[in-house]
Amino acid sequence: MTASAAGVSVHRDGAILVVRLDNPPVNALGARVRAALAEALAQAQRDPGVRALVVTGSGRMFSGGADISEFDKPMQPPQLPELIDRFEDSDLLTVAAINGTAMGGALELSMGCHHRIASEAATMALPEVKIGILPGAGGTQRMPRLIGNAAALDLIVTGKPVNAAKALSLGLVDELAPAEDFEDAVLDYVRRLLDAGAGPRRTRERDVDQDDALFEAALAKLPDTAANFAARRCVLSVQAASLPFREGQERESELFLECARSPTSAALIHAFFAERQAGKVEGLDPATPLLPIRDCAVLGAGTMGIGIALTLADAGLEVGLFDNSPDTLQRALAHVEKHYLGLAARGRFDEPEARARIARIMAGDDERLARVDLVIEAVFEDMALKKTVFADLDARCRPDAILASNTSTLDVDEIASATASPQRVLGLHFFSPANIMRLLEIVRGRDTSDSVLATAIALARRLRKVGVVCGVCDGFIGNRMLEGYGRESGVLLMEGASPAQIDAAITGFGFAMGPFAMSDLAGIDVGYRVRQQRGVDPADAMIYAVGDRLYGMGRYGQKTGAGFYRYESGSRKPIPDPEVDAIVEEEARRFGISRREIPVEEIVERCVLPLINEAANILDEGIAMRASDIDLVWLYGYGFPAWRGGPMHYANTLGTGRVLQSIRRYARDERYWTPAPLLERLAAEGKSFA
Ligand code: NAD
Repeated sequence: MTASAAGVSVHRDGAILVVRLDNPPVNALGARVRAALAEALAQAQRDPGVRALVVTGSGRMFSGGADISEFDKPMQPPQLPELIDRFEDSDLLTVAAINGTAMGGALELSMGCHHRIASEAATMALPEVKIGILPGAGGTQRMPRLIGNAAALDLIVTGKPVNAAKALSLGLVDELAPAEDFEDAVLDYVRRLLDAGAGPRRTRERDVDQDDALFEAALAKLPDTAANFAARRCVLSVQAASLPFREGQERESELFLECARSPTSAALIHAFFAERQAGKVEGLDPATPLLPIRDCAVLGAGTMGIGIALTLADAGLEVGLFDNSPDTLQRALAHVEKHYLGLAARGRFDEPEARARIARIMAGDDERLARVDLVIEAVFEDMALKKTVFADLDARCRPDAILASNTSTLDVDEIASATASPQRVLGLHFFSPANIMRLLEIVRGRDTSDSVLATAIALARRLRKVGVVCGVCDGFIGNRMLEGYGRESGVLLMEGASPAQIDAAITGFGFAMGPFAMSDLAGIDVGYRVRQQRGVDPADAMIYAVGDRLYGMGRYGQKTGAGFYRYESGSRKPIPDPEVDAIVEEEARRFGISRREIPVEEIVERCVLPLINEAANILDEGIAMRASDIDLVWLYGYGFPAWRGGPMHYANTLGTGRVLQSIRRYARDERYWTPAPLLERLAAEGKSFA
């Protein structure tokens, strides 16, 4: 076997054996790599000419850590904890040379080595908590020994990364070296260690403080809920570091297993793999040539246009911003400047970086429009306007420029029909605030070309978005599903639940916000205007009756200090308002609805089940390519609780049979509670959403 077929390559420099992880794309520590590392260590220990073993990574990564695809299989020996023990136990000097990103198991391996040197460009993290587990290869035992309880607890419970400078100041690494010439610096460092007669320096032999108050305080901040399942066990595991090392390790293993077997980690790992799958489109050749994107135009400098411009500038792209209101455009540019200077003032980056980003967003002009690679349109949601805009763009932009619409609901094919080149048109549906929200629905039109689609998928990655490809329909994936959720919350309000009860049931389920607090945040006037434009079926009038009344009273939500709730000046805290309760009761009477107390479970089911039912239709129609894409849309665009894995994963945990049964139980209205044919088929066959 050649060295790199084993996932590592080995070379010798005098008395130093350099073992390089070489397992693209992220040098994961899969079974093959672990075996090769163990073998390299054993060989080095047998060779009297070798005095130190250095483990480092190839490419820009040190290593992404454990291979997550091995999680659901029996673990092949040597297991990672045992391998790391061997590196620590070794009498031969072991050194980690962290050349780039070191995540999870890779950082645990480094902490088991006797010395650590890192590139100034390196980043380190123990992010296990983010997939519902804990660092189970000694990470929770060694990190507090290296950097103290408080710092270790912070890094392990949040999973957040630290840069090299921070790692040095914490004591997580012993020395830094410039990224250029890192290899020479490493050899020089190890030679200095050898010259100084350095022997094994075992992390496990270091002292750690007993600090129960710290751990109790940490647990008190983490209520015992499914969302905190792993975080609480991270705390307990770090606390166990004050036990003798082997006992602590055993405790860590027990807690790790509890996490690994939890529904929370199953959901989070599902989401992790869903993200890797997204953007793979059947029939789209992975070798499809990508169109170069550098220079962009954003049309419409309103809420969305500004956010989209910021996202593009954050990714290093140049943006010409357009608005047919000169005042709006000036305000938008002023906002951009304030935004970046604000981030610099808060230490996100330095002022020259802020200035560079500001300079990337400029007022657009005709010349700019004629040369851009990509246009993203974010003007008012009005079909006639969008068609005029696209016809104009088609005439004025380069023939190979991509023309994208940020429409939330409109038919992308109809928009494309206003151009002579519909193959270059697609939807890029960002979520508000566009520079923060990670979801991007990539709407593939009937005529969108493969290279335009492939370029959009690659662009999503470049913008650090989760790009989900979907077909054309009213509301695409996310907003189409939202409809039923909003409708049921309106019906529940009329039938007897208060806004606060409904919101509490939904936040209890795990959403960050309930539908009424959300409506107050987004603006009751916004929903009202959408209804005016689209029209409401008279049979649905009761659903929106309260919203319409509030609109009529100028209660638009947070921005006017009152909506479904009232707000004290300067506060965003929703306060239940008896005036609203009275309106609800009046409207219920007007529609002849007798009110009753509604159980929390019913509220949750009636809001969440329509999501699943509509999603099944979306999947059946081919609007979404896979169930996990739908999960991503709701996880990253709508705040579905991450630890439930998204609506389809949640449906699978309930069982499609049970979902169908509940839907039938609530059926009162053939328009809305008709079980989706796909759901019926799956339930009949005892299958899940794949
Ligand atoms: P907005 O009203 O804040 O901004 C629209 C801007 O477009 C205004 O500044 C207006 O002056 C400008 N404009 C109108 N006609 C124009 C033209 N012909 N040329 C140049 N500029 C023109 O609206 P918004 O909330 O930013 O929404 C924009 C688009 O994004 C809509 O299609 C909307 O459906 C979609 N969208 C909105 C959200 C959201 O949460 N607000 C989310 C996703 C998508």
